[in-house]
Amino acid sequence: MADSVTSPSAGLHHIVIVGGGAGGLVLATKLGNRLGKRKLARITLIDTSLTHVWKPLLHEVAVGTLDSHKDDVIYLGHAKAHHFNFQQGRMEGLDRARREVLLAPVEFEGHEIIPRRRVGYDTLVIAIGGICNDFGTPGVKEHCQFLDTHEQAEHVQRELLNDCLRAHLQQAPLAEGQLNVAIVGAGATGVELAAELHKAARQLVAYGLDRIDPERDVKISLIEAGPAVLPALPERLSKATLKELERLKVQVFVNERVVEATDKGIKTQSGRFIPAELRIWAAGIKAPDFLQGLDGLATNRVNQLLVDETLKVTKDDHIFAMGDCASCPQPGSDKPVPPRAQAAYQQALLLAKTLPARLRGRPMRPFRYRDYGSLISLSYSSVGSLMGNLLGTVMIEGFLARLTYLSLYKKHQLALHGLIWVMLATLINLIRLKTEPRLKLH
Ligand SMILES: Cc1cc2nc3c(=O)[nH]c(=O)nc-3n(C[C@H](O)[C@H](O)[C@H](O)COP(=O)(O)OP(=O)(O)OC[C@H]3O[C@@H](n4cnc5c(N)ncnc54)[C@H](O)[C@@H]3O)c2cc1C
Repeated sequence: MADSVTSPSAGLHHIVIVGGGAGGLVLATKLGNRLGKRKLARITLIDTSLTHVWKPLLHEVAVGTLDSHKDDVIYLGHAKAHHFNFQQGRMEGLDRARREVLLAPVEFEGHEIIPRRRVGYDTLVIAIGGICNDFGTPGVKEHCQFLDTHEQAEHVQRELLNDCLRAHLQQAPLAEGQLNVAIVGAGATGVELAAELHKAARQLVAYGLDRIDPERDVKISLIEAGPAVLPALPERLSKATLKELERLKVQVFVNERVVEATDKGIKTQSGRFIPAELRIWAAGIKAPDFLQGLDGLATNRVNQLLVDETLKVTKDDHIFAMGDCASCPQPGSDKPVPPRAQAAYQQALLLAKTLPARLRGRPMRPFRYRDYGSLISLSYSSVGSLMGNLLGTVMIEGFLARLTYLSLYKKHQLALHGLIWVMLATLINLIRLKTEPRLKLH
């Protein structure tokens, strides 16, 4: 079938944002409210999915402590309320000469529902995020689960629940390692996932699966190639986190590079074999492979598009990139802006101001990343460091860290829905906590 083309309506500048994640959805919302509402430009958001879930919550979706369907944003409805258009589609290529994004066919249960098509743009913002990097390790694709998408997180949740239901009802005693979980990568995702799993296992028992003894039957292992957990964060934070993981009886293996994953467990370079029924890969990050060589745009070795300080790609004046899929330089540092939700959020806020200014012929302002610190949720508690302007780095732990951690998500929700919505939703969630199970049990 011939490609279909969606062209911008005559006259209005068409800004197309691909990827409605932590950065892209905030940008679409703000540009819709600023430009779309007053018919100063036409804004279109494209995403593979029909709903948005804030990615830092995916580890909670994976263990069932968060039923994401209660919290997700339905793109079509959100777009209508904020004066932009939404199209479902997966970007697979780019035609810079014709200024068109190439979208793969959309399928549902094996049937094509929308054919391959092209969407025309005047300005394009690529915000498609990143995925875990398995570094080509043998067996990982076949035998490990990933947490890159909502669907993958839900798949892990279902597998975990199935394993526990089977273990609870089986006649024979539980086999050694039957409920072991191995997590590769002790960065923020791996650490938070381990702590959340510890909590979920105990909650499942509380809901009646009491033939499982979490202390004896559920062993959680965290495997890290670097010398410490949270290797990218300050040492004090890493040590506090390790102490907390040890208290939760999570087995932590550091300096252990994974060389193979099998259907029985994880093999490391030192010759260690960690048996596990469920294996989750949460290490490394790269941008999607198709960005490498995308119609001549420049990328780095992890496929991120190279952008200048205004977030414009280095080889095209009409294309911008932001968030995890972009490599943005930082003055005075040889490291680019880190792939984090707070960076994507700040970049969205900047582009929401500079893209309208650019339409009026004004110069673009450079992006300056402000690190507000790192917070790690250990399920029952949190530890973290906050960057204070006057105080330098401030370490916070416990209740205060937990509150600050929750506020990151509230900030994201505020940008999307406004204050009244956030207050009402928080109230409803508090009521739900009293009336509904703490764990997704289906
Ligand atoms: C489990 C987990 C926990 C995390 N915890 C934290 C944390 O505590 N703090 C922190 O700062 N960061 C955290 N992160 C990292 C953070 O989630 C990312 O840095 C952030 O989401 C990046 O935002 P983004 O807008 O670049 O991409 P994303 O939020 O990943 O959004 C990308 C969007 O693009 C869409 N998309 C992807 N490919 C295509 C395509 N080809 N065509 C169309 N659409 C596409 C996706 O569906 C998605 O909606 C965590 C990540 C994970 C996985």
